[in-house]
Amino acid sequence: MRVTAILAAGGAGRRLGAGVPKQLLELGGVSILERSVAAFTAHPRISEIILALPADIAAAPPEWLRQDPRVHVVPGGPRRQDSVANAFDAIDQAADVVLVHDAARPFVSGDVISRAIDAASEHGAAVVAVPATDTVKRAAPGDGDARRIVETLPRADIFLAQTPQAFRREVLGAAIALGRSGVEATDEAALAEQAGHPVRIVQGDAHNVKITTPEDLESARTRMASRTVSATRVGTGYDLHRLVNGRPLVLGGITVPFQRGALGHSDADVICHAVTDAVLGAAGLGDIGRHFPDTDPRWKDASSLGLLRDAVQLAHDAGYRVVNVDACVILEQPKIAPFIERIRASLAEALRVPADFVSVKGKTNEGVDAIGHGDAVAAHAVALLEQTR
Ligand code: MG
Repeated sequence: MRVTAILAAGGAGRRLGAGVPKQLLELGGVSILERSVAAFTAHPRISEIILALPADIAAAPPEWLRQDPRVHVVPGGPRRQDSVANAFDAIDQAADVVLVHDAARPFVSGDVISRAIDAASEHGAAVVAVPATDTVKRAAPGDGDARRIVETLPRADIFLAQTPQAFRREVLGAAIALGRSGVEATDEAALAEQAGHPVRIVQGDAHNVKITTPEDLESARTRMASRTVSATRVGTGYDLHRLVNGRPLVLGGITVPFQRGALGHSDADVICHAVTDAVLGAAGLGDIGRHFPDTDPRWKDASSLGLLRDAVQLAHDAGYRVVNVDACVILEQPKIAPFIERIRASLAEALRVPADFVSVKGKTNEGVDAIGHGDAVAAHAVALLEQTR
């Protein structure tokens, strides 16, 4: 089944923020529009996305919109139904089901999208909606606070429509043709009803809110902020190795010229070992000894940078990516300042992050204890990971 998603983002919507269309306002560092588009590009059943944007933005779309070949941009029209009609003209003619989504709903979930696709495929037309929880009153026409209630509607029969709305392609075609003949409607489901196609209700989601007012934006930002906190995890790592004659001194994957080196089963790279433990710890995956035991001959003289790469892969498989790492290496000699940039670059490659997100600092132990006497080298590390799903 081929599924196209139309995202209506043609409105100027400038009442939310000073001079910026509301779809370009940011939520947690990413625009509302980008979050909405990402909900569909991330969905495995969507093969094409047609985005109706205000004409000035459509003429010069932002860089991130040009990166995914499934995303196409068309200029919107004066009304929402005009924007959707323009987008419909650009869809793949082999599409079986077409979704219409309001780009001001950035929190739409994959489950909601799946339910809309299934219902449209089976019944022809479907609207995502939630049952009314407030009692709904109908008032007599008038202005101000003095309006009089003429009817209390039975709440059990009232649903609040969200998007996506989903249609078999020919059903949406008939609805849009009706709209082009002069019928006005606030959504395509209303046009489909008027064109004689029954529209099913599918279960929506209370989080799938439309961001329309400054209060909506504020509560969406609060929600993003708390989500960011709950979706990040921190881990720490520590390691120490003895320094002996006749071994290379490997720090963060870089061999530092020195007459002594760290003793160990692998290359005994204390920075990589501490960072590996920090990454594994943040992901809740145990420690380096559990995954790469020094009793296993596979890890004899192994590159610890390779072990770090493997740990980052384990974290990825568990649904985490590295955000940043800070490490501190403690040794009396030699001075590592000349090697710091190469160590950061080497760690950054293994961690799959830009070098700016890796920090390495050198310390001495002021002549105190084994490290201060030059008999050992140690490292501490902290890693921040972000949940990717
Ligand atoms: Mg070690």
